[in-house]
Amino acid sequence: MTDLHTHATEIHEQFDDQIDVSVEEIEERLDTLVNEYKVPAEEARRSVISSYLDDAGMDREDLGGGGGDGNEQKKAAEVDSPEEWIDMTVKVVDLWEPRSDAVAQVGLLGDETGTIKFTKWSKSELDELEEGKAYDLRNVVTDEYEGRFSVKLNRTTTITEIDEDIEVGDDNLTVEGALVDIQSGSGLIKRCPEDDCTRVLQNGRCNEHGEVEGEFDLRIKGVLDDGEDVTEVIFDKDATEALTGIALEEAKEMAMDALDTSVVADEMREKTLGLYYRVTGPTYGRYLLADETETLTGPVDTEQALIKARSI
Ligand SMILES: [Zn+2]
Repeated sequence: MTDLHTHATEIHEQFDDQIDVSVEEIEERLDTLVNEYKVPAEEARRSVISSYLDDAGMDREDLGGGGGDGNEQKKAAEVDSPEEWIDMTVKVVDLWEPRSDAVAQVGLLGDETGTIKFTKWSKSELDELEEGKAYDLRNVVTDEYEGRFSVKLNRTTTITEIDEDIEVGDDNLTVEGALVDIQSGSGLIKRCPEDDCTRVLQNGRCNEHGEVEGEFDLRIKGVLDDGEDVTEVIFDKDATEALTGIALEEAKEMAMDALDTSVVADEMREKTLGLYYRVTGPTYGRYLLADETETLTGPVDTEQALIKARSI
């Protein structure tokens, strides 16, 4: 009996506020399965969990790391691996227009260490977040795409508005150095056109959506070397056009003439490798996203080369 009570308590904790059911009711269901139908306790537990998942319209993965108790409290800048269940105290810095019906809200959360993107799913039916307000978020899960970290609010997430003004830190980083490499996946690329995907296609295929009609884009994944450290920098279309003087239309023509997209990256290497740049932007994982790029005339003082503008 005690055993079933323990199972019932644990199941109850896992579902937290998601379903309105008491420990006693759960224990009763377990008891029926075990004592009337002679189902082994572990199997009964799985079966009861499944039926509650169905009731709540949840997936098993929504249960996450044990239902929200004992998650690590993390700052925006501390998020450095995917699929971690964490708690955060943040301010809603910016809300963007969702590009898909599956997304209820998308935007930026911030705290004193910086900002991080968040996505809130429509099916999770959570409270609306308001721009400028601060919240305690429990049981959010981290995600990573191309070195950029984000958090997802899911059905098990609890949102508590708090009366606190959070000063949001500037997480921009400035790096000066020579552009020593332009990595593969740079130049004229094609992205998946599916809603909210934008993955870079490999041989016309998206990892998620298979063969698709891609949309052309420009990007450089470059490496800046300041003499001591190297920093991987991503230049988006605008930054790439500014850096190389090659516009998207021109890049498409070059590729068409050569019947080969790789000529674009080659031309970009020719124009930029070995030159010195000062690049400022937010960091996502190991990447610096170029927001502002300045061409420098020559080698920079290595003492001054790496300026961390993170506010503590
Ligand atoms: Zn896709």
